[in-house]
Amino acid sequence: MNAVLQTPIDYLKGVGPNRAELLRSELGIHTFQELLHLFPNRYIDRSQYFHINELQRTNAEVQIVGKITHLETVPQKRGKRLVARFEDESGSMELVWFKGHQWIQKGIKLNIPYVVFGKLNWYGNKCSIAHPELELLSDHDQNLQSGMQPVYPSTEKLSSRGVSNRVIRQIMQHLFLEVNGQFEESLPNPIKERLLLIDKNEALLNIHFPKNQNLLAKAQYRLKFEEFFFIQLQLVLKNAHRKQKIKGFQFPVVGDLFHLFYEKHLPFELTNAQKRVLKEIRSDFASKAQMNRLLQGDVGSGKTIVALLAMLMALDNGFQACLVAPTEILAQQHFAGIQELLKPINVSVSLLTGSVKKKERSQIHSDLQDGSLSILIGTHAVFEDTVRFKNLGLAIIDEQHRFGVAQRSKLWKKNAIPPHVLVMTATPIPRTLAMSVYGDLDISVIDELPPGRKVIKTVHRYDSNRLKVFRFLRDEIQKGRQVYVVYPLIKESETMDYKDLMDGYESLSREFPLPDYQISIVHGQMKSEDKEYEMNRFVEGKTQIMVATTVIEVGVNVPNASVMVIESAERFGLSQLHQLRGRVGRGSDQSYCILMSGSKLGDDAKTRLQTMVRTQDGFEIAEVDLKLRGPGNLLGTQQSGALLLQIANIVKDKDILSLARYEAQLLVRNDASMTQKENLSLRKAYDALVKHKNIWKYIS
Ligand code: ADP
Ligand code: MG
Repeated sequence: MNAVLQTPIDYLKGVGPNRAELLRSELGIHTFQELLHLFPNRYIDRSQYFHINELQRTNAEVQIVGKITHLETVPQKRGKRLVARFEDESGSMELVWFKGHQWIQKGIKLNIPYVVFGKLNWYGNKCSIAHPELELLSDHDQNLQSGMQPVYPSTEKLSSRGVSNRVIRQIMQHLFLEVNGQFEESLPNPIKERLLLIDKNEALLNIHFPKNQNLLAKAQYRLKFEEFFFIQLQLVLKNAHRKQKIKGFQFPVVGDLFHLFYEKHLPFELTNAQKRVLKEIRSDFASKAQMNRLLQGDVGSGKTIVALLAMLMALDNGFQACLVAPTEILAQQHFAGIQELLKPINVSVSLLTGSVKKKERSQIHSDLQDGSLSILIGTHAVFEDTVRFKNLGLAIIDEQHRFGVAQRSKLWKKNAIPPHVLVMTATPIPRTLAMSVYGDLDISVIDELPPGRKVIKTVHRYDSNRLKVFRFLRDEIQKGRQVYVVYPLIKESETMDYKDLMDGYESLSREFPLPDYQISIVHGQMKSEDKEYEMNRFVEGKTQIMVATTVIEVGVNVPNASVMVIESAERFGLSQLHQLRGRVGRGSDQSYCILMSGSKLGDDAKTRLQTMVRTQDGFEIAEVDLKLRGPGNLLGTQQSGALLLQIANIVKDKDILSLARYEAQLLVRNDASMTQKENLSLRKAYDALVKHKNIWKYIS
């Protein structure tokens, strides 16, 4: 990187100590380099000039060349205003100032051509501009800037202390007078040629001083690509290095247990997506590197069987495996299901959760240590220090909709060589987001549901139609089906939500009275034994209705439940709605999802409900969610650091992102050390970025 660019901004003409301090504290700009990367938010088109007699009410901001012929101060209610008469050959108008009179009066030269720019105010047929931007025509012609005028990010403090957009533009001009043309090209020629990218110098000049629309677009494209490319390069390299450095257990065989189970006891044919993912896992196992794979698959896409088959591969190679679920209920279900599946092949499996009694717990501990226990299923209790494996070879984490990564490394500490790790998530996140946030992991996707799944009929009903909904529920229960009714429980309004839940429960109890109907209720304020008791009554079919808060979101499996009623559905986020709907449609019956809401709905709420009614594709839903909420909200604060981009936008520029990832992968495949001649400048730029930690902080 050019040394000049590391110069502190204090040394730039037009900056000075006060402005330097402001730029540092308000925008985090310390050096020429950082100032250079303060990219405009938008541009004002100043390629057009108007005549005064052409001005229309529809013109918002206008630019006119003319002369100031007269200046006077005019008293008004409070204080006075400064008024200038401004003329061109077509007519005249007023320019007005409400403050800064002396300074302006002194600066203005009469009868000399100025370029005036500003917003028009109309009074009847007359118009004026208040606090216009003024520039001598002679200066204007010499300026770097022309048609498209940049508008830079700013803060209140900056503008109140006089560092206006205009001042920043001036500073930027001084910067370019010092450094223009000195930027070293950072992208390899083959990439530039293939993608028709303009040079770095041209791009930086045109992002700040666009010559025209076309060059501006090219400059933006090149700089966005570059921003994504360097992030992706770092992620892809990190992945490659990890594979090189972190040794994993090699599982050379696909052995007896796997074959026995796969050929004799698999209850159904795997979908193609499941087979593909198993192959991906298998090839990780066969390599000498540690697997670190994220498995995305919608609710019901059949991740569990993939997990089980992967665990059998570990066992076949003499290792233990564990499966960690986010809640006790889910751990129990995994345990019950897997135990059932494994019955015919004699594999030892145990359940470890917070509520396992001490005696049983110590038995599990010792069985794990001497290796007599092959598979451990549990909650986060598995992460506790007292839990030691003889030889844990594979850890599978069923995160459902969590994105936490902190706990994963705890499992690693249990071995000298880390186990292979598979993280399963049921919340599909858009590809672009996955690339940015999990770009250093390998990603597998199950994008196909098992055959024969019926579409869950989804409707939106207003509260005023409740009686009809109840009638429908009664019919379904009559047919022997079960029903969920879910209420929102959102922290800030917990007491109110809790009241809604209890009111709802009471009115349901009246509509569906004992002894004909039995209702379970489950919510977060209950003790876990009570929750479990109520859940089990529903699972066993003893109750027909399950009233719950989002507790059930994380994955109970009751194939006989065919209706999901979501109360105040407008208050749920899209991914939550999608998760909840996934609770039904697990059996062979037609299932339904009824979204209840009040009659007043905001635009976003409408979009969410319409999206749910329109589609059942988790990835499509995730895309809508991303557009509505933005990447930061979608991921939570933890990972949003990944998305602090300077110019690119992962929603709007997703095609550029995909391209950048592809190019980064290609480059790492061909020349990971960047030592080939055409990659030397790239290497230099990359090292400098990493050294100056200019590559976005999240990449730790
Ligand atoms: P999830 O991905 O949500 O964890 P599960 O693994 O619980 O999904 O699978 C949902 C249901 O689909 C289970 O009842 C499972 O037995 C069934 N299933 C999974 N894969 C297949 C398949 N290939 N064919 C038929 N049914 C399948
Ligand atoms: Mg699951």
